[in-house]
Amino acid sequence: MEPDVSSRVVSRPIYDQVKSVVPLSDNNLFICEGSVSEQQQSMYLHSECPKKSLVCIISDHQNIQTESAADSLVKCQKMGGFIDSLPQKLSFMTLSSRAYLEGSEGFLWRIYRVLLELGMDPQQIIMQPPVTNNRDIFCPHCFTITEGVNKTVSECRQCERLLYVSDHFSKRHGAYFSYQVNAEDPNDIPEIKELRR
Ligand SMILES: [Zn+2]
Repeated sequence: MEPDVSSRVVSRPIYDQVKSVVPLSDNNLFICEGSVSEQQQSMYLHSECPKKSLVCIISDHQNIQTESAADSLVKCQKMGGFIDSLPQKLSFMTLSSRAYLEGSEGFLWRIYRVLLELGMDPQQIIMQPPVTNNRDIFCPHCFTITEGVNKTVSECRQCERLLYVSDHFSKRHGAYFSYQVNAEDPNDIPEIKELRR
């Protein structure tokens, strides 16, 4: 038996492409994962608010490269340092400020949750559609989130169970629920397929 992903859509977030900034904002913070699209750069450049910043987040294991002149308007930061700097960044933001997020779906929701914890309102946080089909999945056995999964059957990074990836998205976890595929018969491993949007 092969689960049909397309017929089980229940709680997947819907994302609309955002092409322009909200007018009359007093501070726009553009947060991008790994690279910055032309769309985000254009929105940043056309944004006329008094304060704005464009941050490219890289993983804590990567080195920051700053040689490209075209990237000079982009501030590169490692994830850990960026999260640490957010309280100070947000202290300058008012209710009319906006954060524009771009990256993988897992990244979007990780940053979203951090911004909410730091006092931003959901309406202030604007997400672009995820740049990949990868998903973060929540393991119901060990409660671990495995990030960046791209197959419908994937291994939990903690307990190593084989998990089927559902279309049930939890905003609280910022991840999709999953369930073990071979709970009754360890040898019953279904065909592994790439995830689609
Ligand atoms: Zn697990």
